Order: sequence, then structure tokens, then C-alpha cells
Amino acid sequence: MKQRFAPTLLAWYDTHKRSLPWRDTRDPYRIWISEIILQQTRVAQGWAYFLRFMERFPDLDSLANASEEEVLRLWQGLGYYSRARNLHAAAKKIQSEHKSLFPTQFEQVRNLPGIGDYTAAAICSFAYDQPTAVVDGNVYRVLSRLFGIHTPIDSTAAKKEFSKLANELISQERPGDHNQAIMDFGATACTPQNPLCVQSPSACPFAQVCQAYQTGSTGLLPVKEKKTAIRHRYFHYLHLHIQEKTVLHKRTEEDIWRHLYEFPLVEAEKALTEEELRAHPQVLAWLAGCQTPRSLGKTTMPKHQLSHQSIHATFYEWELNEIPPAWQSAAEGTPFVILPEDQGDTYPMCRLMELYRSKKQNPRSSS
Ligand code: SF4
Repeated sequence: MKQRFAPTLLAWYDTHKRSLPWRDTRDPYRIWISEIILQQTRVAQGWAYFLRFMERFPDLDSLANASEEEVLRLWQGLGYYSRARNLHAAAKKIQSEHKSLFPTQFEQVRNLPGIGDYTAAAICSFAYDQPTAVVDGNVYRVLSRLFGIHTPIDSTAAKKEFSKLANELISQERPGDHNQAIMDFGATACTPQNPLCVQSPSACPFAQVCQAYQTGSTGLLPVKEKKTAIRHRYFHYLHLHIQEKTVLHKRTEEDIWRHLYEFPLVEAEKALTEEELRAHPQVLAWLAGCQTPRSLGKTTMPKHQLSHQSIHATFYEWELNEIPPAWQSAAEGTPFVILPEDQGDTYPMCRLMELYRSKKQNPRSSS
């Protein structure tokens, strides 16, 4: 079985490979950008972002020379913004340490910000045909089913075990194609639900030797040991109207949406009423010395789901007669920006802010 794996997989790939805009290239820059976009993002969504990214940043220097805010703006809506910050940081590192030439050694690639074992293996095999196997969720699923491996894929033992097996199996002649093939096979044939063999056993070239299919356990593999706890967070945003100006805050903490802009935010352990919000110490400090704000209404957003967090957000629209003294004297470099209300588009924002802003522009929109 181990000997037949690579030829069978590659024969399947030669007939079924997906046509993607980052395929059929050996350019490590393009491969790198596509791989980072595809982490946590579906191909259908990532496609348009990849094309836009390549149009604006066709080469490494154009990305390294851009501002981080511009990179984040182009990334807006894709989520997991640390990916964009790391792309930018890695481009700068390649520019300064490798004379703008993408490194060719696995360890050098692995040492770039935002690149782990999987992405380094993908880049080095696709661009340079180095025989290092990729190991991601698709690979865990395919190998655990084919070889009947019940080691929980989120355990520490799994990474070593699956990585060893994947590296034993990789084609020495076509390692780049092999890695693309196993990812395609996992994404389109040996899928989490309804794998090919459930629909039509003869359609899967491995059905005769697949342990999971032969024992009727495709639905039980791969095994996971932990359930991820979801954290609930309660966000109260102040959408302020101050003589046709408003206030934005840049997130600087080690948290979701770092370096993106949003309205001043009060986070609490539970959803606050408007009275509780007005009396919150954070709000009192921000608005000290101002007249009491006039309420223009509130918008409660549908629950905003991230991978491990549920965000319950309400936006309060308040009108103020003057810029609060706390922000009037805000020196350059503080996280608050006072700007004309119609200039928000120039700042990168998270998807939640985007959804709210489009709701305000188009109140009938359901999103
Ligand atoms: S037989 Fe089914 S479970 Fe096994 S590799 Fe093929 S699609 Fe996956």
C-alpha cells in the first residue's frame, strides 16, 4: 500500500486537479501569498483576494515598501489579520536580509514571520521540488482513514506520527505535485462529510485498500480528543457624531483584530443597558468635561462568530457638542483618531465594523 500510494494519488491528480490561479507557477512569492491567504480561508473566497493582492503587490518589493495599513486594508474581510501583518513583516525581512530574493532553504523559509512547517513545506515543494511533505487537516483526514489511524489529530503524538508517515509516502520524483495532490484529494474527494466512497465506491482509487472504507468507519476518522471552548464577549461601541466628525480607535493589544480600527469600545462581562454604559468608568473618563451625550439610537448586531469566540456587539450612536477634552489633547501616536465622518474608508477595519457601516448605509440590508 505504501509503495502504491504516490503513483495512485498522482494518477488521480493528473485527471482531477483543480485549476487555480496560483497553480502552475514556480514563483515562491506567488505561492507564498496564495498559501497564506488559503490558511483559514476557503478557495472560493481566497481567489478574489489573491488576484487583488497580486495586482497591487506584484512582487516582493512592492509589498515590503507598502504601509502596514494598506496591506491590512486589502486584507479587510478575510479575517485572521495576523496573517496580513506577518506577510508584511516577512516581506520586509526578505528585503533586508535576503536582498529581496525569496529564500530557498527550508529552515530559512520556516524562520519567516507567519510561516510554519506546513507553509514552508508547501513553498519549498511547489517552488523548488524539495521532498518535504505538507501536513494539514486534509492530510490528517486522508491518512487517518486510509491507514486506519486512531491517534487523536489534536494530540502531541499525532504531529510526529502523521508527519513521519507523510514523508515516507511522498513521491521523490514529483514532490510538489504530490503535496498539491493530497491537499486536493482531501478537499474534494476524501471530504469531512460525504467522502467519495460514500457516494460511489468505485470513484475513489483507494477504496479497495482504505481501512476506513473497508471497516465502515469513514465517519469516525479522524479522531479528535478535545472540544474547543467558545468564549463569549460583549462589545459596546460608541459611534459618536461630533459636528460631522467621529472617533476611531486603533486596536493595539494582543487580541483579535490587532492594528485594525473601530469605534471606541467598552467590553464587559455581560451586555450592558444604555444607562449602565453611560455610567461605565471608561465612558466617564473619555467624556469627562463634556455635556451629556444625546442618544440617537442603537443597533444590536447578530452574533459575530469567530473560530473560538462569539462577539455580541451593540453600537450606540451618541451626539456630542464638542470633541471631549481627553481626545482634544490626544498627541500623535495615541490609538484614537478624530476624523470627518465620511473618511472612515481610509482606515482598515474588521468585518464586524464593516457590517455595521454597511447596515447604516443601507438599513434594509440583512447582513
Ligand atoms: S475510500 Fe473513502 S475514506 Fe477512503 S480514501 Fe477514499 S474517499 Fe477517503
